[in-house]
Amino acid sequence: MELEGLKRTMKVVEDMGVKTKLTTLWKKRGCEKVAKWTQSISNHLYFCAATSEGDGDLVEQKWLSVLNHITNKHEGHGEKFPSCTHGPIERDWIKEGSKAHKELQLLLGKKRLVTDIRKLSPVDQTSGLEAHHKIVCQFAPKFVSFSYAVMKQRINLAALHTCSNAGRAQAITRDGQLRYSLSYPKYKGGKHIVKPVMEECSYDYIDDLNTELIRLRKTYNSHRKAQDAAHKLYISPPPLSSGASHVLKSDAILAHRSRFSGQ
Ligand SMILES: [Zn+2]
Repeated sequence: MELEGLKRTMKVVEDMGVKTKLTTLWKKRGCEKVAKWTQSISNHLYFCAATSEGDGDLVEQKWLSVLNHITNKHEGHGEKFPSCTHGPIERDWIKEGSKAHKELQLLLGKKRLVTDIRKLSPVDQTSGLEAHHKIVCQFAPKFVSFSYAVMKQRINLAALHTCSNAGRAQAITRDGQLRYSLSYPKYKGGKHIVKPVMEECSYDYIDDLNTELIRLRKTYNSHRKAQDAAHKLYISPPPLSSGASHVLKSDAILAHRSRFSGQ
C-alpha cells in the first residue's frame, strides 16, 4: 500500500512535467535564473502534496505562493496559506515583473496544471510521511540513545534530507528508458514485485551546512562563546516522567499483589 501510494505520487507529479518544463524555460534568454530555482520549485510541489491533507484550496494557495516566494515576498499568499512557513533565508531572488517572473507565472499558474495539483491525493501524503519516518530512523536509530540536543539536530538533519530529495525523478538507463528493479519480498510468497529505481539522493544541503558552520565559527570565535550560545539554543525540557505522580514502591507492589491475588 505504502509503495503503491508513493509510486502514484511520483507518477502524478512526474506526469505534470513541471521539472522538465522548467529545464526548458531556463535556457531562454532572460530566464537563466530559473535554473537555480528548478529543484526548489519541484520540491515545493511535493511539499504541497504532503502537507495539505487533500484540501484543494489550501494546496492551490500553497502552490501559487511560490510565485511570490521567488521574488522575496513571503506574505499575502491567500486566506488559507497567508505566509510562508520558513525562517529568514537568503536566495538569488527573481525580480518581480521581470521576464523570468512573467514566464514562471504563465508556466506554474497554468489553469490545467493548477487543477491537477488540486487533486493530489491524500493517500499519497501518508506514504510521504512514512518515507520520512524511515529517514528519521536512519539518522536517529531507535536502538541508540541520544541526548535531547543531539536528537533534535538529527531530526533536523532528517528533515533537510527529506526536503532536498522529495522531488527525485525515476532514474533513466543509458538508452533513455525508465529504470526498474525486481525484488522478491517475503510477503509475496515467492512472487516478484517491480519497483521504480529513483535518481541518486542529493546531499547538496551539506554544502549549505558547511557554509553555516564556518559562519558560526567566525561569529563565536572561542569554545566558551560557542558553548554558551549552544546551551541557549538547546535547553532540554524536563524528562517526561517528572510530570508523573510519584508513589512509594512498596505501596505500589502491595496494591499490585492484592489486585492479582483477588484479595
Ligand atoms: Zn517564502
